[in-house]
Amino acid sequence: MTKKITIAIDGFSSTGKSTIAKQLAKELSYIYVDTGAMYRAVTLYAMQHNYISENHFNSEGLVADLPNISLSFTFNEKLGFAEMFLNGINVEKEIRSIEVSKLVSKVAEVSEIRKKLVREQQEMGKNKGIVMDGRDIGTVVFPNAELKLFMTASADKRATRRYKELLDRGDKVNYEEILHNVQERDRIDSTRKDSPLIIADDAIEFDNSDMGLKEQFERIMSLVNLKVQ
Ligand code: C5P
Repeated sequence: MTKKITIAIDGFSSTGKSTIAKQLAKELSYIYVDTGAMYRAVTLYAMQHNYISENHFNSEGLVADLPNISLSFTFNEKLGFAEMFLNGINVEKEIRSIEVSKLVSKVAEVSEIRKKLVREQQEMGKNKGIVMDGRDIGTVVFPNAELKLFMTASADKRATRRYKELLDRGDKVNYEEILHNVQERDRIDSTRKDSPLIIADDAIEFDNSDMGLKEQFERIMSLVNLKVQ
């Protein structure tokens, strides 16, 4: 009998956290939670209600409106992962846009917003058997997670990955804009006051700039196997 554990995956933007997290969840029959999708959905709500744009941010208004924001995930059998719903509407496509990417790190700096999302994430993981990816999973959300991974890759590799993802879904994108966005988000995420992106003391670091997915998955699965015995 193997025991169910909590797997926390943190790291910089576009380091392939979600790809590896989805694979692990599938292999282990665990729940997968993409916490970035939750911050993105709150950002989309803020844009729709005029709390934020490129040159203004009414964070107090957004915080007062938080009780009206309901986030949920629904598993899509065809896609093989859970999609993000904002107040009952599937927003999976909208939250991945460059417009949301440009504003999300500002929204994620607000402590009251973090508190709400962290509470919901802890609730989702209370029975273990979960793979969660984000920026503060091993440090704040599940400091006692049995396995913590921290993913890194060069900025250029990361921007290229995100660029291809967006091109594949038909978006008109500019490589330089994406590279700038990835670097800017990393800067804000690593220097914010509340729950900055830092590597947990007991996390294992993976630089996957030049590592294939298969090799990475196998290495991580051998770490998982040591923990579930
Ligand atoms: O993971 P993804 O790149 O979609 O995350 C989008 C943004 O959400 C990050 O750049 C960060 O600002 C914020 N985030 C966070 N804490 C998390 C997950 C995401 O602050 N646990």
